[in-house]
Amino acid sequence: MGRAVAVVGGGCAGVLVARELLRGGEDDVVLIGPGEPGGGVAYGNARPWHLLNSRAGAMSADPDDPGHFARWAGTTADAFRPRAEYGRYLRSVLDETARAHPGRLRVHRARVAAITPDGTVALDDGGAVRADHVVLATGGPAAARQRIDHRRYVTDPWRTGVLEALPADRPVLLVGTGLTAVDVALTLTADGRRTAPVIAVSRRGLLPLTHTADAAPPTVPALDDCATLRDVVRAVRAAAGEAGDWRPIVDGLRPLLDQLWGALTPGEQDAFLRHLARPWECHRHRMAPAVAARVVELRAAGLLEIRAGGVAAWPGLAGFAAVVNCAGPGRLPGAAGPLIGGLLAAGLARVGPHGLGLDIDPVGRLVGAAGRAHDRLWVIGALRRGARWETTAVPEIRAQARRLVTDLRIPAGLRMAA
Ligand SMILES: Cc1cc2nc3c(=O)[nH]c(=O)nc-3n(C[C@H](O)[C@H](O)[C@H](O)COP(=O)(O)OP(=O)(O)OC[C@H]3O[C@@H](n4cnc5c(N)ncnc54)[C@H](O)[C@@H]3O)c2cc1C
Repeated sequence: MGRAVAVVGGGCAGVLVARELLRGGEDDVVLIGPGEPGGGVAYGNARPWHLLNSRAGAMSADPDDPGHFARWAGTTADAFRPRAEYGRYLRSVLDETARAHPGRLRVHRARVAAITPDGTVALDDGGAVRADHVVLATGGPAAARQRIDHRRYVTDPWRTGVLEALPADRPVLLVGTGLTAVDVALTLTADGRRTAPVIAVSRRGLLPLTHTADAAPPTVPALDDCATLRDVVRAVRAAAGEAGDWRPIVDGLRPLLDQLWGALTPGEQDAFLRHLARPWECHRHRMAPAVAARVVELRAAGLLEIRAGGVAAWPGLAGFAAVVNCAGPGRLPGAAGPLIGGLLAAGLARVGPHGLGLDIDPVGRLVGAAGRAHDRLWVIGALRRGARWETTAVPEIRAQARRLVTDLRIPAGLRMAA
């Protein structure tokens, strides 16, 4: 007989786990989240000019059928499709799977307030769900937030309508120069009425790099003789130089990243985070060519400026119509929302390496303050960061979802490490 599995968070990870649970066993699934399934930060509030930063061929929900999304969207594997369309795809995948397994999926539109180790999930609408297993799929920590003294400090640029409400004839300062800043700049200039510049600033002023129109097959660089982080960096640079284009090398490294990250000493991981993580992300998470072309256009028109420097002491802060936080995820415990904060405070969870996510065991079970993994509480996606490195994008999440469903079936005492 099937058990009850509660999946907390109805974003991409929640949908992909629910799909795997429905297809791979007999469990009943309750998918709990405040918004429409398949939404989440990336695909929920995306506007038409917000494109995926991965090719359609990388975005299938089905690990066994890489072309599934491209076929659904009627496009080629190389295309960069709108993110909102991808949200619709996830919903259609969930609906179709639910229809094929009638009566086993319940979607509950609520926020989870608390979880207990016995699998009781308390909802903010006063309800509760009893489950044999609970999968935390709530996305990563909240965006890092700097203290900025400005009367219009937009801490959540994804909130509907918040950017459209800003005057087009006064400059706007963006804190961050990554993909979120690019998204925000595109929205602020979308209607063609903006006359004042958008200025994006970060410590180094690095913008994400660009995909080429056609994908080149990944090339795995030779790392056999590498013993340290420095060796790896040297080998990757050499391979990229030889290949003529660094992109296939960066893409070829991707399946090795968790192992490489795990092999670093804590000191090397720390050095990577301080000095290399940002340039790495610029190479790894690239802009779609059409987005990059729009960025070039905006810069040439003087409507987007990218600057390096600190923000808090930015001269003439008061002259900006608004300051918009476009920073990447913060660190735990500070960047925990109420649910994760509550789990940490109750000792049911503990902060993972470098505060990037939660501590987990090798199969993805949540590890509590006492250092023991819970049998019923699981983590998927961005909250695994730190224990893993590459854990936020669709190919990794769908692989985790598949593996998690297998691990859930194995009695706790018999589970093997990943
Ligand atoms: C702007 C952007 C663009 C991206 N583009 C790509 C791309 O092109 N390709 C790619 O592979 N990856 C991309 N990503 C990475 C992206 O993180 C993943 O693809 C995926 O969306 C992560 O899904 P998730 O479900 O883990 O997290 P999220 O999408 O953050 O979803 C988490 C969900 O949990 C819910 N939740 C949170 N707390 C609670 C609670 N207490 N109770 C109930 N529900 C809760 C939230 O409401 C949300 O719906 C992008 C990310 C961003 C931010």
